[in-house]
Amino acid sequence: MNKINNSDRGVFLESNWRHRVLSDERVKFLKLITDNSIHDKTCKLLQKYPDRDIICLNEYDEKLSQCRGCAIKAYLRLGAKDPKNYKRYCTFFDNTFLSAKVLREIYVTNKMTTSIFERTLTIKYKEDTWRIISLDNDGNVQLRHNNYKRLTDGTRQFLGGYHIQNNYCKRIKIRPALSVIETYDYKIHSINDSILQTVDKNKHSALKQSAISRFLAWSKSVNNWFKRMLF
Ligand SMILES: [Zn+2]
Repeated sequence: MNKINNSDRGVFLESNWRHRVLSDERVKFLKLITDNSIHDKTCKLLQKYPDRDIICLNEYDEKLSQCRGCAIKAYLRLGAKDPKNYKRYCTFFDNTFLSAKVLREIYVTNKMTTSIFERTLTIKYKEDTWRIISLDNDGNVQLRHNNYKRLTDGTRQFLGGYHIQNNYCKRIKIRPALSVIETYDYKIHSINDSILQTVDKNKHSALKQSAISRFLAWSKSVNNWFKRMLF
C-alpha cells in the first residue's frame, strides 16, 4: 500500500513496492510507461508518479533517452564498480570538466568500467587498465597505463603497476586522454614496435656491413702497397 506524503501535491515518496525495488539488486533502472526516458532507480523525478506507471529494467537500454536529472547515477550504476562513491566521482568529473555526453561515451558506448580513489579514476577498457589522475581543478590530468611484458608468442603478461603512457600524457586534458584509451590497440602498437625493431636491426647490420667494407678496402690498399714495394 502506498504511503503518500505531500498528497496534496501528488508526490509519492514511499511505498512497499518502491522499497522492494530499491533493495532488489536485479532492478537497476526504471522507465515510465508514458515516455521513452530511462532513469536510475533512485531518480527523485519518479517520486511523483504512481507505482503503476513505472516499469523496472534489469539492463541499461541504449535506445531510451537518458533522464538528465539522474544521468551520472545511471551511468555509474551501469559501469562503476563503486557507485557508492558518487560524490567523489562528481568532484572528479567537475575538476576535469567531464560532460554528461562524454560520460555516456565512457559508460554506454564504450562500456568501460571504472573505480575511483581520491583524485584517481581507474578505467578498464578491453584488455587494458588505465589511470587518469586529476592534477588540479583546471581540467589537467595525467594518463598512466598498466605495465606489461611482451611474451615470445606475441601475447602480454601484465606485471602490476602503471607507467606514464608517454610525454604527451604527462599533463593533458581528459578528452585526449580518453582518445588515447579508446584508440590504443596492443596489436598495432606491437606491429609498430616490430617495424621499429626491424629498422633498428637493419641499421645495425648496415653499420656492421660498412665497417667490414671499410676494413676490406683498407686491407686491399695495404696489399697493393706491399705489391708496389715488392715489384
Ligand atoms: Zn531520472
